[in-house]
Amino acid sequence: MTDQPTIGVLAVQGDVREHLAALTESGAYAVRVRRPSELAEVDGLVIPGGESTTMDKLVRAFDLYDPLRERLAAGMPAYGSCAGMIMLADRITDGRPDQQTLGGLDITVRRNAFGRQVDSFEEDIHWSGMDGTIHAVFIRAPWVEEVGERATALAHVEHGPAAGRIVAVRQGNVLATSFHPEVTGDHRVHQLFVEIVKDCS
Ligand code: GLN
Repeated sequence: MTDQPTIGVLAVQGDVREHLAALTESGAYAVRVRRPSELAEVDGLVIPGGESTTMDKLVRAFDLYDPLRERLAAGMPAYGSCAGMIMLADRITDGRPDQQTLGGLDITVRRNAFGRQVDSFEEDIHWSGMDGTIHAVFIRAPWVEEVGERATALAHVEHGPAAGRIVAVRQGNVLATSFHPEVTGDHRVHQLFVEIVKDCS
C-alpha cells in the first residue's frame, strides 16, 4: 500500500482543475493525463464531467482510446463523474449514433436523462455506507437506466419526478456518479476513491 497514490485526471476536456484540487485535498498526488506515457504513470484515473461526445472524439485523437481500455481491462481503479460516468458505462442510451465508450461498468446510462426543465438541479442524497447526506449537483446529468449483475447501485435521487433514479454505482475498483462532488467542497467521494486506489496499489 502506498501512502500517496498518483491519481490522474483525464485532461482532454471538462472540469479537470476541480478534480485535481479535490484529489490533492484528499491526499493523492494528482496529475493531468493527456498522453499514453502519462497514463502509464498513474495508479488510478478520474474522468471528469464535460461533454462525453467530445471526450470520446478527443481520447481517440490523443491516441488514448486503446491505452485507456487496456488499463481499465487490467483493473486500473477509475472514477467517472457525469460525462465520466458515460465514458465508463458499457452501454449508453441517447448517445450520438457514432459515440463509443471506454466501458468498465456493467451499466446502461441515459445521457441528458433529467430532461430540459430540470437539466440542472441540486439535492441532498444518501450514499450507501456513508453517514449523513451528500449534496449532489447535477448538470445535464445522465442517470443509470439499468445496473447489470456486476455493478452495485450506491445512491439514487430521492425527490421529484426522477425519484428512485440511480446516480452512483460501483463495480470493484470502478466508481461513477451522475453528479459533481468536485464542486461542493465535500470530498468524501474523492476520499473514497483515493482509498480504493491505495488498497489496490
Ligand atoms: N450531458 C453531458 C454529456 O452527455 C454530461 C454533462 C456533464 O458532464 N456535466 O456528456
